Amino acid sequence: MPDRRLALTNIASALQQQAAALQALTSPHDSDLPIGMRLLLDAIDRVNVAASAPPQSRDHHMTPGAYLKHRRTAHGLSIHDVAAALATEPRLAEHVRAEWLEQIEADIVPMSFNTIVALRRAFTFDLDILAQLAAIAMHLPVEPPRLCRICACSEADACLGHHSVCSWTEHDLCSACFALRVTPADRVAIAAALPSARDVAA
Ligand SMILES: [Zn+2]
Ligand SMILES: [Zn+2]
Repeated sequence: MPDRRLALTNIASALQQQAAALQALTSPHDSDLPIGMRLLLDAIDRVNVAASAPPQSRDHHMTPGAYLKHRRTAHGLSIHDVAAALATEPRLAEHVRAEWLEQIEADIVPMSFNTIVALRRAFTFDLDILAQLAAIAMHLPVEPPRLCRICACSEADACLGHHSVCSWTEHDLCSACFALRVTPADRVAIAAALPSARDVAA
């Protein structure tokens, strides 16, 4: 969405001009204006962050097949692990089942109810989420569910850690993936963009 980014960048620079104007009107004994200034600078900061965010980060949603693939890999399972565990199609050789699973994850082959039940026994995923994503794939007016972009965990299907379940670090990133699956360089960039980190720094 280049138009949206351009519009946001323009808003940020317009706010920047207002900040300069406000700064010029602020005298040393003003108490409210410096607070307003801080909020304005924070607003500029946030608009700039939104303007530079990857364009698909909010509007992107997974297909049903991609959702299953994300959940499978989050459980550390290969296609062959799942193919070996699946007994739904016993007449198929394991390597054929593996290919067939790959096609399901690529949304080439539709998944049957029996397949979904069998996959659900191999690893956890949320049936409501799967139904929502299937509805979106059918262009039904359904809100995209909130999913972690790395492991596709969700509110009802959160990652289990040693002490507690995961929480949201970003809109589409859970705390478990932030801690375990994000590179150190990306962690620094994400932490710098988080509101709490910036409030502390300000
Ligand atoms: Zn995650
Ligand atoms: Zn998680």
